[in-house]
Amino acid sequence: MAEENKPNFNIIGPNGLGDEQRKRAEAFLEKKIEEARKPIEDESPRTEREEKIIQIAYELLEKELAEMGVKEMPLVFKEQFHFLKKIDIGKVPFFAESYAGTYNYLNQRADIRKSEDDLFSFLTISHEMLHAASFEQYYTNQYGNGASVKRGGYTTVNLQDMHSHFASLGELIADKILLDIILKNKDFIADSLKIDKGYLGYTEFTYPVHILNILLEEVSKRSGIKIDEIWQKIKKGFFTGETMHLRLIDRYLGRGVLRFISFFDFNNEFVEFLPGDPFQKIIEFIKTDDPKMRDEIAYELLNEREYLRYRQQAQKNDNF
Ligand SMILES: [Zn+2]
Repeated sequence: MAEENKPNFNIIGPNGLGDEQRKRAEAFLEKKIEEARKPIEDESPRTEREEKIIQIAYELLEKELAEMGVKEMPLVFKEQFHFLKKIDIGKVPFFAESYAGTYNYLNQRADIRKSEDDLFSFLTISHEMLHAASFEQYYTNQYGNGASVKRGGYTTVNLQDMHSHFASLGELIADKILLDIILKNKDFIADSLKIDKGYLGYTEFTYPVHILNILLEEVSKRSGIKIDEIWQKIKKGFFTGETMHLRLIDRYLGRGVLRFISFFDFNNEFVEFLPGDPFQKIIEFIKTDDPKMRDEIAYELLNEREYLRYRQQAQKNDNF
């Protein structure tokens, strides 16, 4: 892994950014990286096996990015990955009981649930590594004091009210990229992890990739653009920060669809408490042209605030 890589932080500020301001914000973020390298309280030391799995995930990511034409390998390093035993998971902030792993864009640290199952570890490490490698943008104040996350992958944080957009969409995209990687490298992964090739590609991902597939299919059907062409653009944008092509979704499926998908919380502990089959309803939402039906589904699946914002978007009648 490229340890010597010095990150090229993407930092913005109010009314541009002066040299001094940039230097201070960069120093703040570099310190975060230094901290991410140190062990955290309650973690279990990385085993040789876990380091090997990190290395496998890294090599596959490097290959995938090269194939996509992403020139510069983002900063990813093994010390960024911290492993937690089940019993210690509740002690770490932002790590819910049901999570396999989390990535914190500000601390640039991945926390991973420790497992004896190498395939599970590989999927979790790879998923969090995709976040670590994704497009990042930070915001600093007029003095360059500290920094906060403005964007991570496709997720945009509204700094006024700390509300984020497109967070769920980013999760579906990360898992679909991972599926691409697996399908292209089955033999290598099976050999390296010493597991049966038959398990690969059919495993349960954390997020329902099939919903993203249906979304892409619908856009393709209605626009005449090939599915793979749309997907490759969206995939590359996860790393480069380019977001224009996301507009294809609303342009061809109708205003509000992108916002609805982005708002829905795909995390298990949320979905479990919804009545009926929420994923089936989301698929109906994507496929229908009936605004009334869409509205009913959005009302049922989103919280009040999200629903109102969805409505605002859906009622726009502009050309874009
Ligand atoms: Zn994720």
